[in-house]
Amino acid sequence: TPIIQIRNLMKTYKLGGETVRALNDVSIEIDKGEFLAIIGPSGSGKSTLMNMIGCLDLPESGTYLLDGKDIGKMNDNQLAVIRNQKIGFIFQNFNLLTKLSALENVELPLLYAGIPAKERREKSLESLEKVGLRERAGHLPTQLSGGQQQRVAIARALAGNPSILLADEPTGALDSKTSQEILYLIQELNELGHTIILITHDLTIAQQAKRMVSIQDGQLQENGGELIGNM
Ligand code: ADP
Ligand code: ADP
Repeated sequence: TPIIQIRNLMKTYKLGGETVRALNDVSIEIDKGEFLAIIGPSGSGKSTLMNMIGCLDLPESGTYLLDGKDIGKMNDNQLAVIRNQKIGFIFQNFNLLTKLSALENVELPLLYAGIPAKERREKSLESLEKVGLRERAGHLPTQLSGGQQQRVAIARALAGNPSILLADEPTGALDSKTSQEILYLIQELNELGHTIILITHDLTIAQQAKRMVSIQDGQLQENGGELIGNM
């Protein structure tokens, strides 16, 4: 059964007198354990779709079922709970807190979730172990390379054991060699059973996912469609 079922999703923005259709009748099903890349150029609707999938924003029409739950019917508090339980976010710029150690950064979402200190520490160390950085637990982000910082951010995303890892341009701030290493790590996590949704404008990255859809002018196409031919 799919972990994500999106049907006929629409999202428009009003900007002055103009209406921008950021998502235009988007439908997609994503199964547990998939590794999906969503590829599209700037302005195609990637961030809007990511905000929907990540339960940061609600559809204006259409339905979004996450683990069978109707996201469109939830209030802000319910959305925050779902987000915390189900989704691990990975960002282009890592979004680590600079005054906190790697371990403390990884612990943060568990702290918000009310997990007791001892369990928080154990889970966070396990998570750092998964990304190969357990021995750097005490380092500050500034004492780590870009690739290592992204690993810490991935450990943070994993700490609460979410159903889905949602990565928005996770290699966008990294050189090509480091990008590839991060991609290998993401592939490994997928092989361990994590469902991955990776948003990118980079074809070499997207092609390494198990499934690729493209987005253009707010519309999805399986396998990249025409977009890939034009890139
Ligand atoms: P991408 O992430 O692929 O660059 P976005 O989802 O950010 O695309 O944007 C999709 C479309 O919606 C673009 O035309 C963009 O200009 C427009 N858009 C995004 N956010 C807003 C907003 N807050 N207000 C008005 N228009 C927006
Ligand atoms: P892009 O992916 O196109 O470079 P950004 O990711 O910087 O653009 O932001 C695109 C849109 O998503 C913006 O309108 C921003 O307000 C929103 N956004 C990005 N990150 C978050 C977040 N963590 N929470 C809420 N909204 C976000």
